[in-house]
Amino acid sequence: MQTHQFDAIIVGAGGAGLMAALYASMGGANVAVVSKLYPTRSHTGAALGGIGAALGNYEEDKPLWHAYDTVKGGDYLADQNAAKVLAENAVDAVIELEHMGLPFDRTPEGRISQRRFGGHTSNFGEKPVRRACHAADRTGHMILQTLYQQCIKRDVRFFDEFHVVDVLMNQGACVGVVAIQLGSGEYHVFHGKATLFATGGWGRVWRITSNAHTLTGDGAAVVYRRGVPMEDMEFFQFHPTGLYGLGVLLTEGIRGEGGILLNRKGERFMERYAPKIKDLASRDVVSRAIYHEVRAGNGINGKDYVHLDIRPATVNRYLAEAGETRRVDDAYIARVLAETLDVCRTFAGVDPLREAMPIQPTAHYAMGGIPTNIDAEVIMDEHETVLPGMYAAGEVACVSCHGANRLGTNSLVDLIVFGRRGGMKIAEYVKKADFVPLPANPTAEIEAEFNRLRSARANGKTRPYQLRKEMQAVMMDNVGVFRVEQGMKDAVTSVRELRDRYRSDLTFDDTGYKFNTDLLEAWELGCLLDLAEVTAVSSVARTESRGAHFREDFQKRDDENWMVHTLAYRKSDQPYPAGHPDIELNHKKPVDTSLAAEDPRFAPKERVY
Ligand SMILES: Cc1cc2nc3c(=O)[nH]c(=O)nc-3n(C[C@H](O)[C@H](O)[C@H](O)COP(=O)(O)OP(=O)(O)OC[C@H]3O[C@@H](n4cnc5c(N)ncnc54)[C@H](O)[C@@H]3O)c2cc1C
Repeated sequence: MQTHQFDAIIVGAGGAGLMAALYASMGGANVAVVSKLYPTRSHTGAALGGIGAALGNYEEDKPLWHAYDTVKGGDYLADQNAAKVLAENAVDAVIELEHMGLPFDRTPEGRISQRRFGGHTSNFGEKPVRRACHAADRTGHMILQTLYQQCIKRDVRFFDEFHVVDVLMNQGACVGVVAIQLGSGEYHVFHGKATLFATGGWGRVWRITSNAHTLTGDGAAVVYRRGVPMEDMEFFQFHPTGLYGLGVLLTEGIRGEGGILLNRKGERFMERYAPKIKDLASRDVVSRAIYHEVRAGNGINGKDYVHLDIRPATVNRYLAEAGETRRVDDAYIARVLAETLDVCRTFAGVDPLREAMPIQPTAHYAMGGIPTNIDAEVIMDEHETVLPGMYAAGEVACVSCHGANRLGTNSLVDLIVFGRRGGMKIAEYVKKADFVPLPANPTAEIEAEFNRLRSARANGKTRPYQLRKEMQAVMMDNVGVFRVEQGMKDAVTSVRELRDRYRSDLTFDDTGYKFNTDLLEAWELGCLLDLAEVTAVSSVARTESRGAHFREDFQKRDDENWMVHTLAYRKSDQPYPAGHPDIELNHKKPVDTSLAAEDPRFAPKERVY
């Protein structure tokens, strides 16, 4: 075992982790970034469409309008103080990225180019606005490369291919993490004054997902096992346009550029569901509309998918119909949606310039996660009691600026805004704080768990992929776009059975120590199962429909009883208990409505798009 000591340990090297690392180091902290992937392979690099900021480069725009869209898009569960910070800080955060060298697309005048995106409007919902700043359709890739370069320049220490498997607590504070070095199988202890989790989402809980194979929710699971609650886990976003059968994401930027959703009859069905902004309604609304069309027999060829059409002839027809002067051609589409065309040709054999793309909703984004305040400090309860030394930012965190449904482009904003705030807070904290000592035998419990996995494999018969497949099917069918009580309860039962089999019957091949990805994949499955269980349990309890959580047995939003966040605690004093410890749900954390207190337009009302 090796021990390393740094002021700040950042777990995860996506946009949130790198931004936090950069700012903590600029504030004078000695920073280590620990990542199971090589940094530039993080999922942030897959983000295509853009990053939202009210720059107003084409038309008038204001941060307050951005905050309004965020609150409305979040179906009024977003904490309004957080949405305000998100929208206000977005403007200089994007300009700062530009100054760091991020090659944004340009307007003819040389300003940062902006495109439309779902749910983003001007003047409190009046009409769609061009708010998404983009570098073609590889914005996330550019953010990641830019931030990584800046971190290298600042001498941030990178521990790449170190898989964090436990978090260390002592004297009521977080004191670091335990990681397994992939190349050697050795345990490494990272001892820090401050530890920030930026490990991304867990879309791999579902069968059809846009998320990378690595998005298994490790960071959320390890802190949950050590007593940190999970906030708002019932809210998981399905993006409407995943490539049929594969889930690979086709960016909302396609609709932002004028792409249209069509059913079997060639109808632009979004006109019926969102008369005002049609195909650019928020994601939960569009995903449900697609399911409705499929149920009504309007799927293409009787199957469960519809078409997304970006062929210039189609786009121009609808642009003309809407009285717009803008027109597109093949060359333009090929330039601004280069990655998309490539993905479609490679994975579906479809050339979007010649034919419509087959799409279905795909599990995309965790609105819930590790609860934090607006400075990325982890909080433990409805009183916002801070857990000293622990921070979280990015998709793994729940600030909650996205509420019940995130708007497109707002995740990239979240990463850089709250990653930056977290980094600044850490720099401040480590100047004053001393190191809290490590607990005795810091790796004992996690080593015992890995030894158990290793020895159980000799007698087990089920492979991780088999259990994973079953979990994904159950969650897709019962805790997906449409939900009912019995289905969700069945999901809880099934996930618990799967976890029993995980403990008693799991097997895998590799018995070695170096690059034992078999073993780590088995361990990741344990994280997915824990998060699937919390998701299903939290979903059963919320007896209303709001944002991404849509219940057929409770179809209305219930503001009287449910303007509260869910905090789910696992009741066990052991990180790896046998059996099924209770999950205790607390519904006492109210939604922040500070903007509504000043401006009635922010008060909850029915969402009409
Ligand atoms: C295909 C796709 C397209 C998207 N497009 C957009 C878009 O256009 N605009 C937008 O706003 N949002 C978009 N999103 C969402 C957005 O990209 C993500 O929410 C965001 O990038 C998450 O960033 P992150 O920094 O939180 O984590 P990630 O970028 O996912 O990085 C996670 C990091 O954690 C590390 N990690 C995880 N587990 C461990 C562990 N156990 N030990 C050590 N390290 C660990 C990984 O190595 C990685 O470095 C898209 C998402 C997808 C999947």
